[in-house]
Amino acid sequence: MSKGIFVVMEQRYGKVQNVGLELVGEATRLKEDLKDDVVAVLLGHDIKGEVDKIFHYGADKVVLVDDPMLKDYVTEPYTKAVCEVIKAFDPEIMLFGASSIGRDVAPRVASRVKTGLVADTTGLRMAKTQEELDKEAAMGNATPERALLMTRPAFGGNIMATLMCPRTKPQMATVRPGVMKMIAKDETRKGELVEFKVDFTAADMNVEIVEAVKSDKKSVDLTEAKLIVSGGRGVGSAEGFDVIRDMADALGAEVGSSRACVDAGWIEKDRQVGQTGKTVRPDLYMACGISGAIQHVAGMENSELIIAINKNESAPIFEVADLGIVGDLKQILPKLADAVRKYKA
Ligand code: FAD
Repeated sequence: MSKGIFVVMEQRYGKVQNVGLELVGEATRLKEDLKDDVVAVLLGHDIKGEVDKIFHYGADKVVLVDDPMLKDYVTEPYTKAVCEVIKAFDPEIMLFGASSIGRDVAPRVASRVKTGLVADTTGLRMAKTQEELDKEAAMGNATPERALLMTRPAFGGNIMATLMCPRTKPQMATVRPGVMKMIAKDETRKGELVEFKVDFTAADMNVEIVEAVKSDKKSVDLTEAKLIVSGGRGVGSAEGFDVIRDMADALGAEVGSSRACVDAGWIEKDRQVGQTGKTVRPDLYMACGISGAIQHVAGMENSELIIAINKNESAPIFEVADLGIVGDLKQILPKLADAVRKYKA
């Protein structure tokens, strides 16, 4: 029988990325129902030093494939390595980050091992209710209590669709960075390390990396930000973002945006929060002049504290806000920024 909740970790320049640790956290939650081990698959070269960290964040086991072929991400060797791991261990579930790497490798793996893949999921849980178990059984699932229900936005984000993959294993999903929550780090937590060998041949490396050049553009990673001040169409113009930047500066926050402002060319795309932008989960999210369209809310609703400023008291953003301020952001934000600076001084 297929067994184990496997997470394909992501590493860049030999460092494990948060998206994998978030998925390990989610896998520990699935384990409460499935009772299978959480197994992280770590691919790279000279990366054994990262293994303990993965145990600290909840993995029971790490399958390590360490090979010079896997030093940098290249589609073919990574696809082969994941497929070999699946053949050897027969996982029940396999999760990938919906990052550029995960989006490249996961569909190739799915097609080679002939299973399904649900992309860009925002929610995962095991089938539990009688109705869900009956549905699974009716679809030919011999072990309905082991079925993974995978939820993702569909039809432009207007509905949430829950999908399942009842007849083939592993049940696979990609999950966007920032959607799932890491569990608290516990440095006393230990696990089992399994070193796994893949026989690569020269033919597996079908491209040559001549040089890896890091972008010199200072790009922001909103998914890691603890505080975000976001502006929407209500800021009025590119210059209108000055009050947003000033507020962010006072708080030591990052600047975010709705898609309307990105489309208008007021701010860069890497600041966009939402379904087609970043999914964020900061301690504080301030939505200023943002109406609260479902596609925006999908990317920020899990923030710890949401403060909304909008001059329209019936704006939908107030439905997800913990604190709502009805008024003109151009008048409110400078006063708020002053107050924060005075408080900090
Ligand atoms: P608006 O909806 O125009 O709202 C502006 C708000 O500002 C209003 O509520 C108004 O009352 C308020 N306001 C105006 N002046 C002031 C003032 N002076 N002070 C205070 N408040 C003021 N959107 C995203 O954000 N992220 C996404 O990833 C995303 N993906 C999408 C994917 C698809 C497939 C589709 C179809 C749409 C997507 N959208 C996304 C667009 C989304 O539907 C909305 O159009 C967008 O979020 C609206 O941006 P907004 O709230 O800034 O603008």
